[in-house]
Amino acid sequence: MTAFFSVVVVLKSYFFWFAFSIGACVGSFLNVCILRIPEKTFWSNRRSVCPACGALIPFYLNIPIVSFFLLKGRANCCGAKLSWQYPLVELTTAVIFAVLYVFFPFMGWDLSALQFDADQLLRWLHACIFISLMLTMSVIDARLMIIPDVLSLGMLAMSPVVAWAHPDLTLVDSVVGALAGGGVLYAVAWAYWLLRKQYGLGFGDVKLLAAIGGWLGWQAVFPTLFLGSIVGSIMAIGIMMLARQFSWQAKIPFGPYLAAGAVAHLLFGSELIALMTGG
Ligand SMILES: [Zn+2]
Repeated sequence: MTAFFSVVVVLKSYFFWFAFSIGACVGSFLNVCILRIPEKTFWSNRRSVCPACGALIPFYLNIPIVSFFLLKGRANCCGAKLSWQYPLVELTTAVIFAVLYVFFPFMGWDLSALQFDADQLLRWLHACIFISLMLTMSVIDARLMIIPDVLSLGMLAMSPVVAWAHPDLTLVDSVVGALAGGGVLYAVAWAYWLLRKQYGLGFGDVKLLAAIGGWLGWQAVFPTLFLGSIVGSIMAIGIMMLARQFSWQAKIPFGPYLAAGAVAHLLFGSELIALMTGG
């Protein structure tokens, strides 16, 4: 019953729905990034246009999550079918931002006074931006088997700023994390190349794990790799069984699993480590 009441309290909080709404708008922006960054058309046309016919989309038909359902999944201009990716990314981002508010409640009413916690706000912002970047790179990697450098290296370059702003992450943790993350996957890629004379692992993954280490610290590198490999292996076996063919050569993007491992570590790291060490 207490769990039920705490869910009710959270859902009644304005800040929870405030975080949800910000997440929905950010998700709408992530859809633009997912579409335009690999095409390198990010800066060319700033207004939203219909992907099928190129018509300008008026702002009132561009409301995150809502518009897709009001339009019944079809473009208003030309009737083209809209991808489920749009509302899914928007809804996922909205739910993530709202759930992160539960993890890092930076604002709330306490005995009719407004409480504000700057450290929790920084933790919330850090987790929101980190997971948004992970989601963007995962969808691009799943669709096109590439992780754009502007995202992975851009994120890596931001690491010192993140370490400076974050209340718990030190610059040493961040630098060692970037070196360990990039180094361990670079060594794996190099060893695979020596053994098989072909690339088994994309260098996009090397840069991605370096960026994860830079943003979460060295403590996150091995849990991310471990969790990502487990989830990735289960998914790969599942996909091969569904496709009824088994192949060691099957090309499966690793980026989304690394991203999932990093997010699992960010949110449940201490619980997962306690679970595995029996503590
Ligand atoms: Zn159209």
